[in-house]
Amino acid sequence: MGLLSASQLALRAVRCYLSPFPASKSWLCTKASLLGDQNILLMGPPGAGKTTVGRIVAHRLGLPVVDVDDDVLEKTWRMPVAAKLAAIGGERFLEEEGQALCNFSASGCVVSLSGSNPLHTASMHHLKESGLVIYLDVDSEDIIQRLTRMKVNRIVGQEAGVSMRDILRYRKQFYEKWLDLRVLCGTGDTVEEVAEKVLKAVERYQNHAAETYVSTRSDSEASSNHKTYFSDVVVEGLATDGGLYVPRNGFPNIDAREWLRLIEMSYPERALVLLEKCIHPLDVSALDLRTMIFKAYGSNFASESVAPVKHLIRNQYVQELFHGPTASFKDLALQLMPQLFAYCLPQMCNYLILVATSGDTGSAVLSGFSRLSGADTHRTGVLVFFPEEGVSEIQKLQMTSFKEGNARAVSVRSDFDFCQRSLKRMFGESGLTGHLAVEYATVLSTANSINWARLLPQVVYHSSAYLDLCRDGVIRFGEPIDVCIPSGNFGNAMSAVYAKRMGVPIRKVICASNHNRIIADFIATGEYDLRGRPLMLSHSPAIDILKSSNLERFIFHVSGGDSRLVKELFTRLDRQQSFQVAEPLLGRIQQEVLAGWCSEDDCLAAIQSVHAQTGYLMDTHTAVAKVVADRLQDGSCPAVLCSTAHYGKFAPAVFKALQIQNIPEDPVEQLKKLGSTASRPETHRDMMRCLEDSGRRGHAVCQAEYGVLVEEVENMIHDSFLKVM
Ligand SMILES: *Cc1c(COP(=O)(O)O)cnc(C)c1O
Repeated sequence: MGLLSASQLALRAVRCYLSPFPASKSWLCTKASLLGDQNILLMGPPGAGKTTVGRIVAHRLGLPVVDVDDDVLEKTWRMPVAAKLAAIGGERFLEEEGQALCNFSASGCVVSLSGSNPLHTASMHHLKESGLVIYLDVDSEDIIQRLTRMKVNRIVGQEAGVSMRDILRYRKQFYEKWLDLRVLCGTGDTVEEVAEKVLKAVERYQNHAAETYVSTRSDSEASSNHKTYFSDVVVEGLATDGGLYVPRNGFPNIDAREWLRLIEMSYPERALVLLEKCIHPLDVSALDLRTMIFKAYGSNFASESVAPVKHLIRNQYVQELFHGPTASFKDLALQLMPQLFAYCLPQMCNYLILVATSGDTGSAVLSGFSRLSGADTHRTGVLVFFPEEGVSEIQKLQMTSFKEGNARAVSVRSDFDFCQRSLKRMFGESGLTGHLAVEYATVLSTANSINWARLLPQVVYHSSAYLDLCRDGVIRFGEPIDVCIPSGNFGNAMSAVYAKRMGVPIRKVICASNHNRIIADFIATGEYDLRGRPLMLSHSPAIDILKSSNLERFIFHVSGGDSRLVKELFTRLDRQQSFQVAEPLLGRIQQEVLAGWCSEDDCLAAIQSVHAQTGYLMDTHTAVAKVVADRLQDGSCPAVLCSTAHYGKFAPAVFKALQIQNIPEDPVEQLKKLGSTASRPETHRDMMRCLEDSGRRGHAVCQAEYGVLVEEVENMIHDSFLKVM
């Protein structure tokens, strides 16, 4: 069925032909014990509890236990480890310890490593081959306290002038490098609790099939035979039955002590811990995930905190989601998603993402894919079509700065609908998709906001907002907040609902619409009705949306996974342009979210008055959230407004709101002028740079003919991807 069938078929054909599946999916799993003859290797700093936890775990599993210090090193050296260290010094100690471990072999054991093993590469390679490395991730301050209490006064690396904190910080990178699984230990966790977490982690590792995905419309009987893994979901985007993918068993719940650990972490560290919990390590290994996350949320963001939360006024805070390279919140997902996508692709299969856009998606997708590196750039590309007259000047300049390589934008002398229709036609034309598959091993795909890999990273910034408020002393962990989100396709709002499900104490998710208020009406009445509802232009074009695609996930969620109902509702929406939900479901929807809408005048007035009162300049989408929050939030807890774009991106409307006459022609001058008007936030570094560069170059505009667009696709494939044979 549906839009993607031809390309999905092509994908399956290429996949079967070239590469059955990733080799690593089922290397363990025997019934006799949890891990067959694999070891469970516990790793962590001194004082993490490796020995004690190892004994408990071994006892629970009925396995032998090996303590590297006592059973390997002391036996080999015939002297206590501390004496050895004192005798030969840290450097030689590490070497001799490594040597001893290279000769060590065991199977089916619980092995408690020493704190310093992971600093020796060869021995860790050897050990890692024998089983699963589990990192007992304990807070450094807890470690320091324990070591003081245990009167440990000599560990490797400790010498005059080097603090224990420095040693622990230095070691962390090695633990992060070798781990297969992280066990995040909270302050106050008992050894029994940590052992329990270890057992759960091992069980999770083994039970990969528990972390499969289902379609929101799937008949669960039928789909239980066919397993869809994370990598399938990322590559396929939409399910074949037209539904959206969701995790079969929902989201992991994270306990309060673990959340407390996250408070002191940086954004990428938080992202890593949270996404490790949502992506099975056999889909993406912890080390690969780490590499991707640190690349996604690094110096490409102008703010080191990535998604900082700033106080606005009274109990209202703004979370600035616009510090990424293209100045909208879409960067938070799209700096990571292309890396996950390239990682999950079947080997040797080229992928070309086609996007039709009239807004922020284009530049964010281009930026994300252009940052791929190595072989990925030769097999993963993106081609964006946008209407020459249908996007703002700034968006156009952002997109046309991508002209070559694996990420390109093409301007079309027509409207958005033409671009969209042409792409749908390409996806549906089996002659074309077949030709591309055979000739170039290339599959066409989309990267739209329903893709799971776009939704999942957004859970992190909602969590991060809450953690920042805890860190800054605005709330104590456990106290509620509300979040208010300008909503179009409901992806951002849905991620907040998922963050809440993971244990973030979000009280209400407040959805804010502009005068295209279909979501607000639906949440008020239960009726979703497209009839007699033309799309109206607005000052907040990114939420000018009537078919809110992620709403399907929301209904699936609040109905407790009722895929029959979801299928019925959305089939009716396709056929009759409307559907209605009744009590008690409507009540459950209203329990979870509040919704309101904001008129055009109110939006501009809010920009003006917030600027006058605070000096803070909001973009139009943020202003929509502000107006709705003022109306619906009762002030009894902090409210976080999602600021989804930098004000510079919607400069003309912001000028209008501020009633500034004499608006400069040149977009660069516009940004400078707004920048000098606003005391906060600062001008957007990358937007400015991009405009300065690309404003001086022109760009080609192609004819509004289907054949011409197809030619652009072929040209791009031709000079970006290797030809098969
Ligand atoms: C895409 C976008 C939105 C809408 O987000 P959804 O996840 O589709 O609800 C809001 N604001 C801006 C600036 C956007 O670019």
